[in-house]
Amino acid sequence: MIQGNYEQILKMISEGSNLPVEEIERRIEARRAKLSGLISKEGAAQIVASELGISFDKQKLKISNLLSGMRRINITGKILRVNKIVEYNKNGRSGKIASFLIADETGNIRVVLWDVNHIRLFEVGEIKEGDTVEIANGDIRNGELHLSSFADIKLSQAVITNVQTKQAVQHKSLDKVQMNDSISTRAFIVQIFGPTFYLVCPECNKKVSETGTCEAHGKVIPKKNAILTLIIDDGTNNMRAVLFSEQIKKIVNSDELPSSDSFMEKRNLLIGSEVILEGNVRKNKLSENLEIFVNSVEEINLDRVIEELEK
Ligand SMILES: [Zn+2]
Repeated sequence: MIQGNYEQILKMISEGSNLPVEEIERRIEARRAKLSGLISKEGAAQIVASELGISFDKQKLKISNLLSGMRRINITGKILRVNKIVEYNKNGRSGKIASFLIADETGNIRVVLWDVNHIRLFEVGEIKEGDTVEIANGDIRNGELHLSSFADIKLSQAVITNVQTKQAVQHKSLDKVQMNDSISTRAFIVQIFGPTFYLVCPECNKKVSETGTCEAHGKVIPKKNAILTLIIDDGTNNMRAVLFSEQIKKIVNSDELPSSDSFMEKRNLLIGSEVILEGNVRKNKLSENLEIFVNSVEEINLDRVIEELEK
């Protein structure tokens, strides 16, 4: 996701305006002072850029340079993953939303498609996972690249080596996290709900129907997966963190999981312990609250903390 590279933005504004970098910096600082520091350097840079009449329209940007609020931007990247198309029906309006993760050598970002013509390219397989695409006129919203019907997406012959598959993780306190952030946080477990279990297809790990049928693989012998929900607190806020089987295994032994008695004991040990966890921030569809889908979790061990401090 977006890790605004301030130095590069300065350079882009300087080149676009023929003003020295120092002058751009001075204007950005002046703008921030006027707003009592309520705006980030990157945000102020955006304002200065638009005051100078610089648009990033014709420039090809690298993903690490994308910033919130940028409009009509152009990038080229490789599609790492295509998500399932979602149909919505809200307030009498219905439609589809498609999304995928795109990467270049500097970073990656989720792309959201709203236009039926763009979505169709994915439905018919004209554009798919692994393809390199060129995107024009996208807008950055909430840390995502959104393509309206004014945007364009097409296959590209560009060859991108060393795509950045790892999502940039930000160290953030829980009171600062926003939707779609990839965060790393250190917090105490204050409550645990679950585990609850559900059945998935052993081939694709997707939920199977009650009769044990996978949408893609038909009748299968389903595998049992678990979900554990932690309430974590880092002193600034508390938040739900959702763990699936792979991550649960890192803090719970397999023999502690299946029976509620064995888990009770472990649960009591875990509550009050401190963990470092990484994950993506999503909105819970029912509660509308933000929660963390955990990609990595570990209990704090002192050796690691000392290692961090020594860095
Ligand atoms: Zn399957």
